[in-house]
Amino acid sequence: MSKLFPTYARYPFDIVNGHDCYLADDHGNTYLDFTSGIGVCNLGYSNAAVQASVAKQAQKIWHTSNLYQSQLQEQVATLLVGDADKLVFFCNSGTEANEAALKLARKASGKSAVLAFSDSFHGRTYGALSMTDNPAIQVGFGPLVPDIRFAPYNDVAAITQITADLAAVILEVVQGEGGVNPASSEWLHQVAAKCKQERVLLIIDEVQTGNGRTGQLFAYQNYDLQPDIVTTAKGLANGLPVGALIGNADLASAFTPGSHGTTFGGNKLAMAAAKAVLTQLTPAFLAQVQAKAAYLEQLLQTEIAPLSQVTGITGLGLMQGIHLNVAVGPVVTALQHAQLLTLSAKHDTLRLLPPLTITEEQLAQGVATIKQVLQPCF
Ligand SMILES: *Cc1c(COP(=O)(O)O)cnc(C)c1O
Repeated sequence: MSKLFPTYARYPFDIVNGHDCYLADDHGNTYLDFTSGIGVCNLGYSNAAVQASVAKQAQKIWHTSNLYQSQLQEQVATLLVGDADKLVFFCNSGTEANEAALKLARKASGKSAVLAFSDSFHGRTYGALSMTDNPAIQVGFGPLVPDIRFAPYNDVAAITQITADLAAVILEVVQGEGGVNPASSEWLHQVAAKCKQERVLLIIDEVQTGNGRTGQLFAYQNYDLQPDIVTTAKGLANGLPVGALIGNADLASAFTPGSHGTTFGGNKLAMAAAKAVLTQLTPAFLAQVQAKAAYLEQLLQTEIAPLSQVTGITGLGLMQGIHLNVAVGPVVTALQHAQLLTLSAKHDTLRLLPPLTITEEQLAQGVATIKQVLQPCF
């Protein structure tokens, strides 16, 4: 009998080992991984630089409180923002980063209303949950945080809902949990322009899309957008718990000493891992991600799109969704039996988030497995 709250419908195996893009379970099975955790272990499961950086830091000290200076936090912040006039706040998770973003937007603007979108996912603490359009995860937890509105995602009808009384608009450039839905460049620019016109802060949630996943450090950089606030987490420290809020420096007066904080946020082990991750996300590495993504997209179009259970393929970079007209759950399980780990997302989407370090050969192998598993259903 499990002694754990049943908050997860867990698969009946425990992953006990990992190397590169391969995982091994407690039954002796090995898997090719198309999940990266859930977009977390973007550099695979045995990245030498991350391992060395964390091991070295663990020998020195792994926690100090935020009462003291942190050169590691400064270094990671610099890797995140470069020379831009932006500041960073470190926390421990995606939901915490979005919580911080909501608080910062309200305090800095002096307004309270926030506009989020259909099929959004921003996390499970109250602020983030309230900005998440998914009844399955909201029901029973009310009352939620007030003054959160919703508009249709990637739909021009949403633009009229961006009004001067809003503190902020929050969106994902590619919705992850919502079904791997990329917004069009045109819509994103319309949203950004209306936010600017109405003096509404634009928050981009890059918890899943950030840290190289789409071939740029952040997905919004594929579209030349200038968000006021960016949140990230999942892939930032390749599996150590971390979250980050990045905001324009002119928001600093809303986050003065005592106004916001966290005990563990910016923990030295997490920062050592994040530093090693970001150091590896060079322009050359990101160009490789783009090339692999182009290869994967091509392969999915030729091999998977024609299958009878597939209604479409969407995504950006190494974040791809295969939309099915059959239930996705049994497909994920069948793929596990065929030694490939995948994820699902809303609306029967088979979600692929392979490590960014995966090879084209491994991508081809995984796609061949997906084709094999889907084909007998013809
Ligand atoms: C996973 C996710 C979150 C929540 O992150 P946690 O670390 O699970 O709290 C928020 N936003 C997006 C887009 C995510 O994919």
